Amino acid sequence: MWSLRAWRQRRILAAHPVDDSRWAAVLARLPILDGLDPAELQRLRELSVLFLHDKHLSLLGDLELSGEDRLVLGVQAQLPLLHLPDGEWQRNFHELVLYPDDFRSPQRYRDDAGVEHQWDDERSGEAWAQGPVILAWPGVTESGGWEAYNLVIHEIAHKLDMLGGDANGLPPLHRDMRVVDWAQAMQGAYDTMNAQLDRDPDAATAIDPYAAENPAEFFAVSSEYFFSAPDLLEQAFPAVYAQLAHFYRQDPLARLKRLQAEHPDYRKRP
Ligand SMILES: [Zn+2]
Repeated sequence: MWSLRAWRQRRILAAHPVDDSRWAAVLARLPILDGLDPAELQRLRELSVLFLHDKHLSLLGDLELSGEDRLVLGVQAQLPLLHLPDGEWQRNFHELVLYPDDFRSPQRYRDDAGVEHQWDDERSGEAWAQGPVILAWPGVTESGGWEAYNLVIHEIAHKLDMLGGDANGLPPLHRDMRVVDWAQAMQGAYDTMNAQLDRDPDAATAIDPYAAENPAEFFAVSSEYFFSAPDLLEQAFPAVYAQLAHFYRQDPLARLKRLQAEHPDYRKRP
């Protein structure tokens, strides 16, 4: 069947080819792609070109990005979507704003007495419900390894979450998933972390304590770990790992274990 969407996509891909040497350079910067099979890598390459074509990149200050840099950004934004069913997963934003460095963001909080507090917060990323994804470029370049940090995936996860309305840690689930299973896994881990931090605010939590801020941050941080430290996430919160594997339809832990079996010293954690 002829599809306008597929035809349009083929035209964009034909007009914006990525040559093999540039693609190889992108892969070299992103170890979290290691072990993806050739079909997955080809799909990711195409998704990234389409993404960079569809979204407007606003570069602030003196930031300049090469074609390779843009792909490094696009690929990380598309990795979470690689196996999601074709759909409008990124319809809720059109723009990425890139700061040359961490930026200050005005924060507001209304306390229980109804008093409004405002302050400036140093940020490396932000996702607005009705607006762009905002990233500080140094955070993007620090992402891409198996180091339990990925700014791009973190903010993209917030955007997936916001497809269902406010960010609350519950993105639109697939038909073969149940909200009750999701809620049980996420809430259990979230409560465990918060109990641990209540006892000792400096406790060495299994994943970044920022996840304990609220359910939306829990989803964003656990998504970061899912793709960049699946071993740590699965060890700490296996039910969370399982739900995210259902949602993203990927199994990065299996991929990491395969790499480690093939190359015994591959990304061994200290
Ligand atoms: Zn966040």
